[in-house]
Amino acid sequence: MSAIIKLSPRLANQIAAGEVVERPASVLKEILENALDAGSQQVEVSLESGGIKGIQVRDDGLGIGKDDLPLALSRHATSKIRTLDDLEMVSTLGFRGEALASIASVSRLVLTSNQTDDPSDAWQVAMHGRDMDAELKPAPHPKGTTVEVRDLFFNTPARRKFLRTEKTELGHLQEVFKRQALSRFDVSLQLSHNGKTLQNLKKTKTLQEKEQRIAKLLGPEFMQNALYLEREAGSMKLEGWIAKPSFSRSQSDLQYFFVNGRVIRDRLVAHAIKQAYSDVMYHGRFSAFVLYLTIDADEVDVNVHPTKHEVRFRESRRMHGFLTSTITKALADVRPDTEINPLQSPDASSSVASAANFSGVTSPVGSSIVSAPSIDTSTHSQGNLSFLAPETMAFKPSDSEALSVAQQGAMAQSFYKVPDPDNEAGNENTSEIPPLGFAIAQLHGIYILSEAKDGMVLVDMHAAHERIVYERMKAALADEGIRSQPLLVPLGLSVSEKEAQTAEDATSNFERLGFSVERVSEESLLVRAIPAMLPTKVAEQLVRDVIADFVKYGMSDRIESALNEILSTMACHGAVRANRQLSIAEMNALLRDMEQTERSGQCNHGRPTWRFFSLPELDKFFLRGQ
Ligand code: ADP
Ligand code: MG
Repeated sequence: MSAIIKLSPRLANQIAAGEVVERPASVLKEILENALDAGSQQVEVSLESGGIKGIQVRDDGLGIGKDDLPLALSRHATSKIRTLDDLEMVSTLGFRGEALASIASVSRLVLTSNQTDDPSDAWQVAMHGRDMDAELKPAPHPKGTTVEVRDLFFNTPARRKFLRTEKTELGHLQEVFKRQALSRFDVSLQLSHNGKTLQNLKKTKTLQEKEQRIAKLLGPEFMQNALYLEREAGSMKLEGWIAKPSFSRSQSDLQYFFVNGRVIRDRLVAHAIKQAYSDVMYHGRFSAFVLYLTIDADEVDVNVHPTKHEVRFRESRRMHGFLTSTITKALADVRPDTEINPLQSPDASSSVASAANFSGVTSPVGSSIVSAPSIDTSTHSQGNLSFLAPETMAFKPSDSEALSVAQQGAMAQSFYKVPDPDNEAGNENTSEIPPLGFAIAQLHGIYILSEAKDGMVLVDMHAAHERIVYERMKAALADEGIRSQPLLVPLGLSVSEKEAQTAEDATSNFERLGFSVERVSEESLLVRAIPAMLPTKVAEQLVRDVIADFVKYGMSDRIESALNEILSTMACHGAVRANRQLSIAEMNALLRDMEQTERSGQCNHGRPTWRFFSLPELDKFFLRGQ
C-alpha cells in the first residue's frame, strides 16, 4: 500500500484555512473584500455572538451566475485574474481564489446570489458536506450577493479553542469593519451585532463628509487634531490625515495606511512615518494617521502574504523618501496662525471649551470658535514693539556653554544674530494682531502671558526658545554642511561581506554626513573621519547601526538623528533659562520668532510650547452668559 495519499478536498481546504481564517474577524475581512471587489454601493454586515455564531454580509454588487456559484466555493477558483501578468497588475483586493473555499471548510456556509434585476432569478449554494459538494437550489434574492457563515470552527475543535470571548471577537470584527469603511468612502456600510446597529455610514463625497466618517470611526479627537495633506510626485500620490504631534498615543493603534485601497502594515512605511515625526514626537509615544497611497499597480507586489497585509514596494527607497518628506513638510507647516484659526468642520469644534479642555489636556489648538467677539486692539499699539532696541531683541544664550559644545563658533554666531529692527516682522503691521498676540507679562519666570485676537496665549518660554534655536542650528548645518574631522587613529571594523558591500555602496551617503568610511578588504572597513560634532566613542556603533539600516530599509537616518540630538542638547543649553527676566520687547520678539519657525508648536522633546485659550472657552469657564 502506498504511504502517500491525496488529501480530501475538505482537509486540503482546512489546511489552507489555517493561514487565512484565524478568527471571525478574518472571515469578515475576506467576505467584505469580496463585496467591495464586486463593485457594491451598499454593504450590510450582521453579526451574531461575536461572529462565532453567525456572520452575514449582504451586498448589491455584480452577483454570481448560477454556474459560477459552486465554483466560487472551490479552491483556486477566481474571477479576478487569469494570468501571471494579471497578478502583477492586480487591482482587486482578492485574487488568490481560496477564501470562500477555506471558510466553507471550517463553517456552515450559504452563498446566495443574483446577477440580474429579476429577484426570482437567484440561486443558492450551501456547503455542509464532507467532500465539499455544493448543493445548488433557487432562492429569491435581489441583485447582489449574501454570504452567511454560521458556526465557525464547528468541525475544527482545536481552532475553536483559540476563540476568545464574544466581546474580544467583536472588537476584532469592528476593527476589520473600520478598516474597510476607511478604505472606501464611496460605499455605504452598515454594521450590526445581535440585532443592534453599531455603525451606519452613508457614502461620502466631500472632504467634510469623509472627515465626519473618520470621526465616527476613530473618534472626534483624532479629527480635531488632524492635518489634511495631499501630495503627488510622478506616479505616487499620498493623501490623508495625520495627527499633530501634540495628539499622540501610547500605542500604534491609530495608524492606518492604505496602498491602492488595501490596508497594510509595513515596516518600511512605519519607519518612514516614524522618521518624519522623530523631531516633534515625545519619546515613546506613537503618531496617529489615516493615509492613502496611490501608486501604479505594478510598483507594488501584493502577493507576499496569504492575508495580504504586507506588500513589497519595487522602489522602496524612493517610497520611503516620498513618505518621509511629505509628512515632515506637513508637520513643519504647523504654525500658530494655522493653529489658532484652523478650518474646522462644525462637527469638530463641538467638544471644545469644557473645563477639562481648559486645563489643557488637548492640543495647542484649543479649537477657537469663529464668531468670538473681537478685542479692542488699540491697547496694543503702545505695548507694541516701540521699545524695540536691537540689543534687547536678540536672544543670547544665557551661558556660553552651547558655543563651546558646538566647536563651531562661526555657525553658532549666526543663530543669535541681532535682527534688523526695520525688517522685524510685526514692526510695520501695527494694525494686525499677530497669531500669538502681544506679550503682557512673564509669569513665575517660566511662562509668557500674551493677549491674542479672540483669546489668550500661554507660552513656555524655555521650550519655545529651545525649538527656535534648534531649528536655526539645523538650518545652519544644512546650509554650511557638516564639518568632518579625521580620527587620530582610524577605526577598523570587521563586518560581514554583505555589510562591507553595503557600506561601500553608501560611501557618498556617509561623506555627505561627515563620515569617511572605506572598505579595506572583503570583510573590513576603516572609519577615517567622523563629524566634528560627534564624540569619537559613538562612531563605531553608529556606523554599524547605519549599515544595518541600509541592509534592512535601504536607507538610514541615524547619523542625522545623532547630529540632531547633539544640536537639540546645544539648543537646550542655548535657550533662555527659567527665571531669566525678559522685557516685554524680548517676549514679543520670541512670539514673532515662534510664528516664523517650523515645528514651533513642540519643543525638541515633543512637549507643547504654547496653548491658546479662546474667549468663548474663557467665558464658559467662568459661566459667563449662561
Ligand atoms: P478571490 O476573492 O481571491 O477571487 P474568493 O474565494 O474570495 O476568491 O472568491 C471566489 C470568487 O467568488 C471571486 O473571484 C468572485 O468571482 C466570487 N465572489 C465571491 N464573493 C462575491 C461577491 N460578494 N459578489 C460577487 N462575486 C463574489
Ligand atoms: Mg476574496
